[in-house]
Amino acid sequence: MKRSGIELNMIVLAILIVLAVGISGILVHRSLTDIVNSIHAEASTDFKLIIIKDISLDLLEIENSVELFALTRSNTNLKKYRDVNKRLNERLKLLAENKTETEEDASLIDSVQTLVNNKLKIWEEIKEINVEKNDPQPQFDELYTLLAQKDIDTVKVEVLVPPEKKKGFFKKIFGKKDTAVIRIDTSYVEVSPESEAIREEIEALETGLIMQEQRKNRRELKLIQQNILVTGKLNNLIAQIEEAERDALIHKNNEADRLATIIYKRLSSFSVVAVIMLFVVLLLFVRYLSKSRKVQKALKAAKQETEKLAQAKENFMANVSHEMRTPVNAIHGLTEQLLQEETNASVNQKLGILLTSSKHLKEVVNDTLDFSKIQANKLKISATDFAPENLIYEILAILKPEAEAKNIELLYRCEHTLPAVLLGDPFRLKQILINIIGNAIKFTEKGNVTLLVDYKRIGDDQFDMQFQIIDTGIGISEENLDSIFEDFVQIETDYTRKFRGTGLGLSIVKKLVELQNGEIGIKSVLNDGTSMFFHIPYKLGLLDNILQAVQHGVSVPAHVKALRILGVDDDEYNRYLLRIIFEKWGMISNYTEAKNGNEAVDLALSENFDLILMDLRMPDLNGMEASKIITRAKPQQKIIALATINSEAERTMCKNAGINYFLSKPYAESELLEIIETTHVNAKHNDADLSTFDLSELERLTNGDKTFMKEMIEVFIRTSQTGITNIKQALEQKKWEKISEEAHKIASPCKHIKADILYSKLKELEKNTEKLVRSNQITSLVLAVENDVNQINTALLSQIEAGNFSS
Ligand code: ADP
Repeated sequence: MKRSGIELNMIVLAILIVLAVGISGILVHRSLTDIVNSIHAEASTDFKLIIIKDISLDLLEIENSVELFALTRSNTNLKKYRDVNKRLNERLKLLAENKTETEEDASLIDSVQTLVNNKLKIWEEIKEINVEKNDPQPQFDELYTLLAQKDIDTVKVEVLVPPEKKKGFFKKIFGKKDTAVIRIDTSYVEVSPESEAIREEIEALETGLIMQEQRKNRRELKLIQQNILVTGKLNNLIAQIEEAERDALIHKNNEADRLATIIYKRLSSFSVVAVIMLFVVLLLFVRYLSKSRKVQKALKAAKQETEKLAQAKENFMANVSHEMRTPVNAIHGLTEQLLQEETNASVNQKLGILLTSSKHLKEVVNDTLDFSKIQANKLKISATDFAPENLIYEILAILKPEAEAKNIELLYRCEHTLPAVLLGDPFRLKQILINIIGNAIKFTEKGNVTLLVDYKRIGDDQFDMQFQIIDTGIGISEENLDSIFEDFVQIETDYTRKFRGTGLGLSIVKKLVELQNGEIGIKSVLNDGTSMFFHIPYKLGLLDNILQAVQHGVSVPAHVKALRILGVDDDEYNRYLLRIIFEKWGMISNYTEAKNGNEAVDLALSENFDLILMDLRMPDLNGMEASKIITRAKPQQKIIALATINSEAERTMCKNAGINYFLSKPYAESELLEIIETTHVNAKHNDADLSTFDLSELERLTNGDKTFMKEMIEVFIRTSQTGITNIKQALEQKKWEKISEEAHKIASPCKHIKADILYSKLKELEKNTEKLVRSNQITSLVLAVENDVNQINTALLSQIEAGNFSS
């Protein structure tokens, strides 16, 4: 399907929007990743600074704990000193591990580490100084004890008073140094020489202690001064690092700002572009929608219009065909009857033309009706059990007269025994074969038409039936072969011009074959002949169903059941068919059969039969001869010829042989019953079942089209009512011919609804009017007919009212 301009534009724009959004997404993602990375880097710098600050705090704590220790000599402070020292060393390690990035940064950290280590050493040394290794007090105690013993009365106690503790650390370091003071009792003491020595020893010890204290103080002072220097340097370094960090932070901020600005710009420009494009797409979409809505509206309207037109066309075709079918059938039927009755050669010739034309018209109407049904998908394929062989014989019997009239041989060949019963649509198969074989006969001037039938098993219970129809006719040129199955195709040649058709036959045939899941093909050589082949798959059918179907076919009146009948036919199938029919009519005990003319004569003369059903074409003694012999001996013998009578001469010959009734083969069961009833019309007046009718035949005729059925029934009700009114009027006016005419008019539609009893009464009214007048039976028969018509019409009307025919 070609896309519209708007659709293409929308697709391109949509792709562009997706691309724009995608690209902007990627760029924003990248920029954000940069920002996040920079924040991460910044966080790691911060971490270093935090460690350094922690270290400097630890250093302060170390200083404090050493000072406190120096003042208190408490081991708690010493422990604290060690703990903090340990912690600080760990922090130094952590700092070393985080030493990254620039060389400058690394050297700064190295310097920090060196300075910290220096400070640690200083404070370690200060601590060491303050850890007293030997306490002079025991030595003093010993000396004073000794001195006391020497100068027990004279020597006043000399007490070494420890210096007063100074409060602040710095006062201690920088203030005047306190020394232990020896207070001596000023009272006179006589000193012994040993005491003197002890005193001197004490003094020496005191002097040593003072000097040691002074040395320690000096060293401490020096270390404190160093510490001040190192602390200053360390603080400088920290300040430097802090400044560098500040600068780096400002730089990162600027960078983030820059990136954010770029993202913002990109985002804004992409958003603007995307919004513009979206807007354009929206505009196009709205335009497209309104346009397509208009187009859809127009399409819908056009579709509705087309459907209406198509419906109107179909209705028209169907209605016209329906309307035409009844009169055409009437024309054809009446012409046939007239031909049977008329003896004037010139009138016969005209009637012959009328018959051919009405037959042609009938075909055209039927083709049109089928075609319109196929077009409207209303043609249904039924699933009925049927005997294929019987069907083929029926078709051959129908077409044989046509072939014989043209002196063409109609041959049938079948290599294998066909399946006895198939499940499918026999009516449509018949239609297909009649059409193709009919064409073959039509377009063949000399030679023959052969029907070849075969089959292939395609499953356990499925058969592919294959049919081939070969003729030695005019053939079809190659260029025309392709279009032969198209609607309304007719090939224009001098020969075909003689057979004007609808050009629908083969197109209907093809559609019918395909509707049944089959295929059709043709081969033809101009002036040499045509071969048409088709195959249709069928399921295997059930013989019982055929018998049952036949059993449900007609309702046989009691007087018919009582008849003794002799059936004569040399064809086994035909005899079998008759047997089945009589069996299901429940009169097989009254039925006798003969295989040939001689047997028939013997039986007819030795026994009494109410009726003989006689096949005319038989070897040796044919049906006509046999009938002659029988009627000569028994002039009242009623004989029905089971054969198609092709000429008036043949009919006259039959009548001369005593045959007064005719039934063409193949015949429907109802037709057989009808003709039997006609031969014994008087016998049935006593039947209780007066108002029977059966719509199955009408249903078959109309292909189940309920509307058509309803129309036909309404036509029947109308014509029968008018007819009976006219008959009664004619009876009053004693217009016997008029009675016969009117009875004939009503009789034909009775066949469609299988109102067989009414039909036979009407036929009697029509044929034996004068006889009935003479025997004074006419009024009672007219009343009986009126009664039947009323009963049937009431029943039909109630069916219509019940909605039995609403589709
Ligand atoms: P129609 O209903 O008018 O006969 P068909 O569809 O049956 O139309 O046939 C179409 C045309 O195909 C016929 O007019 C005839 O020219 C040609 N055709 C059909 N069958 C044969 C055949 N067996 N031999 C030669 N021509 C044929």
